[in-house]
Amino acid sequence: EDHRIIMDETAIRRALTRIAHEIVEKNKGIEDCVLIGIRTRGIYLAERLAQRIHEIEGHPVEVSELDITSYRDDRKAIIKLAGGESAAAAESGIVAKPMIVQDKRVILFDDVLYTGRTIRAAMDALMDCGRPQNIQLAVLVDRGHRELPIRPDYVGKNVPTSKQEQIVVSLQEVDDEDKVTIIHQ
Ligand code: 5GP
Ligand code: MG
Repeated sequence: EDHRIIMDETAIRRALTRIAHEIVEKNKGIEDCVLIGIRTRGIYLAERLAQRIHEIEGHPVEVSELDITSYRDDRKAIIKLAGGESAAAAESGIVAKPMIVQDKRVILFDDVLYTGRTIRAAMDALMDCGRPQNIQLAVLVDRGHRELPIRPDYVGKNVPTSKQEQIVVSLQEVDDEDKVTIIHQ
């Protein structure tokens, strides 16, 4: 097995800062924007991004999370969508708080983009619970191999990979350090 570091702590920090500026520029501010992190690491990235945007714009941006499970086995993704304050609603496994997406500019954030199937399931779920103004996509790493016509609006790093390679994203919040490595099995 061969491990290679492709982003260190500084590179991750700079990428998030750049993406924060790109989001603010593209949306001409952050009015009507909500950041939605996908599953574990997308949520931490969304929270960090929100903090950067707060620093840049001087006011907070709403952060929420989306948990998509077993979407590969079943078209009906199990979705948990909740604002930070409603953990109970998130636990129920049903789509909560439709107002989170209605008429909002929704910015999805995931750690790695691969085939695009997760994002497709996420978009299905969001659109089942309201009508967003638009949906944008931010990812820390785009590793290629798309199987659907999905492209990210904001990319930390493009990393061409083979299907045998895997990206490992380590984040301070859960892994005690910030780094992105590529492994060849
Ligand atoms: P997709 O649905 O686009 O095929 O895969 C994206 C989802 O699977 C993301 O939620 C991402 O976390 C995970 N994923 C796919 N490939 C990788 C990878 O190489 N490394 C990591 N860390 N996650 C991956
Ligand atoms: Mg994931």
